[in-house]
Amino acid sequence: MPKGPAVIRRGSRDWKPKLGQHFLRDTHTASRIVDALGDVSQSTVLEIGPGAGALTVLLARRARRLIAIETDRVLAAQLRMQFATAENIEIIEGDVLAIDFDTIFGPKPGTSRPGLEYSPEPARVVGNLPYFITSDILLRLFEFRRHFETIVLMVQREVADRIAAKAGTRDYGLLSATAQLYTRAEKLFTLPPGAFNPPPKVHSTVLRLTMAPQLEKLRVPEDRFIAFLKVSFGQKRKTLWNNLKSHYQPELLKTALERTGIKPNIRAEALPLEKSAALFRELTARDGTR
Ligand code: SAM
Repeated sequence: MPKGPAVIRRGSRDWKPKLGQHFLRDTHTASRIVDALGDVSQSTVLEIGPGAGALTVLLARRARRLIAIETDRVLAAQLRMQFATAENIEIIEGDVLAIDFDTIFGPKPGTSRPGLEYSPEPARVVGNLPYFITSDILLRLFEFRRHFETIVLMVQREVADRIAAKAGTRDYGLLSATAQLYTRAEKLFTLPPGAFNPPPKVHSTVLRLTMAPQLEKLRVPEDRFIAFLKVSFGQKRKTLWNNLKSHYQPELLKTALERTGIKPNIRAEALPLEKSAALFRELTARDGTR
């Protein structure tokens, strides 16, 4: 079994800062992250950005099947060599934003052990993310949510605060509303820059997102409701009325706000999802979108 992650130092020929490469320094922290996935002995785990393999080596021992996606050709090749004899591990060299999740959970190419593809439950996802594409990765996971259940991600601390924020608090915004439309978010623990090599400029927080789509409960159609949220949150300093008025006729908007008991001068940040959904339903019931 492979031992620990390879070490890549800032300034070394192999380090690619543009890919958000900050590698976990110690096994204890890596264990805490993998522990947050729960018992994965019967699960398929998808790892995003395995890098030098800090989480991968632990997952290789614990998971029924592990699929890891790494965009850096050199790191992907190193990992492939490292796990060449492990039948339950697959290293895919690719961009997580371009991978078709409808296809990767099938049989492992060239496997001599059929049946590994039939996981009894949706996959669990883990990753110490390249921070600059955090939102894009989340949106992609939500898009393919039928394949996933628990998602444990290391993200920039401020982003974790926004994802988990409650309506009416300073950090609540479009990212919070979108994440909470699909998942239940828990902040688990925060790490200082020194936990990584090379250290990033920011603190990092490990988040656990449990899939819990609210669309049916809120009785809203996915695409149109997301579009509505984007308009509602449009410009942060503007009131809900000002953000919505160019999309709905004033009379319709006024009536819908009255009927849902929402004051026109509040900002979208103050509205819990249930209220946003009620307003959306009221507006669309009269087919008033321009
Ligand atoms: N998991 C390792 C760890 O914890 O030490 C590495 C984490 S590092 C913050 C992020 C990793 O994601 C890097 O290995 C980087 O090359 C990879 N990466 C960056 N962009 C990616 C993308 N679009 N798709 C897949 N991997 C990506």
